[in-house]
Amino acid sequence: MTIEQRLQGKVAVITGGGSGIGKGAALKLAKHGAVVCMLDRTPENANKVKKQIESMGGRAEVFETDVSVPEMVEKGMRQAAEKFGKIDIVFANAGINGKWAALEELSVDDWDQTLSINLRGTFLTLKYAVPYLKKNGGGSIIITSSVNGNRIFSNTGATAYSSSKAGQVAMMKMTALELGPSRIRVNAICPGAIDTNINDNTDISPTLDDVKMEVEFPEGSQPLEGHAGSIEQCGDLVLFLASDESSHISGTEIYIDGAESLIRG
Ligand code: NAD
Repeated sequence: MTIEQRLQGKVAVITGGGSGIGKGAALKLAKHGAVVCMLDRTPENANKVKKQIESMGGRAEVFETDVSVPEMVEKGMRQAAEKFGKIDIVFANAGINGKWAALEELSVDDWDQTLSINLRGTFLTLKYAVPYLKKNGGGSIIITSSVNGNRIFSNTGATAYSSSKAGQVAMMKMTALELGPSRIRVNAICPGAIDTNINDNTDISPTLDDVKMEVEFPEGSQPLEGHAGSIEQCGDLVLFLASDESSHISGTEIYIDGAESLIRG
């Protein structure tokens, strides 16, 4: 087997595959032989990734899905399984920064929006994917959490975001226990700052200008490279967790942050 065939014959579903970390994973998994189904609420971007995969000689499909809507997630998984016959790999990655604000300024709607996409969306993704993985005799689920839900709590204003990201880690651990006997592995990746568009859409309270996430790090604050990570580096980690090379790894969160969280946590 050559390295390019590590995921030959596998079908991967990626939520939020049209941009950023999901896009990096879609391209990486496709490069290594997987058929990729992208469930994204922005199909225009996901269709560009599909074209890129096809130009590499791979196969991909896009199903417009809002991960916070149960009927859409159920339909997206069904469409993926019907189109390609099965699902082996699930990358529950779609997410938003949402509103960052002091606790008293954070409205209930702000809280609900962040939690409904990041945490409820992850729950729905797993809920509707697992029957297909079980039918297939097992599989690998990877969840995109964040250093913010686990190690870094120095960004004041990120209460909703960090709560959603910590909840994803708890969900990962519970489901790894529950689904192990079905030969389904569940792991989480916890990125530090990664160079994507997510911060462009962040709604930061005017009183919290100082909490804006930095993509470039002041010298020495990110020990390894001194700058944000790339979607390609995240794709490599997702590839590892999706492949049989991680066959004994489940219930684990892996930090991909250049050791940033060890000094900022
Ligand atoms: P991004 O904005 O580049 O991509 C997010 C993708 O998710 C987009 O394609 C978007 O259309 C899709 N999406 C958003 N809401 C959706 C919904 N309700 N239903 C379906 N699709 C939806 O952002 P990114 O940085 O690649 O973020 C991906 C994940 O990584 C998120 O869960 C985020 O919290 C996490 N993360 C990012 C960073 C970072 O620095 N970029 C750090 C830690 C964790």
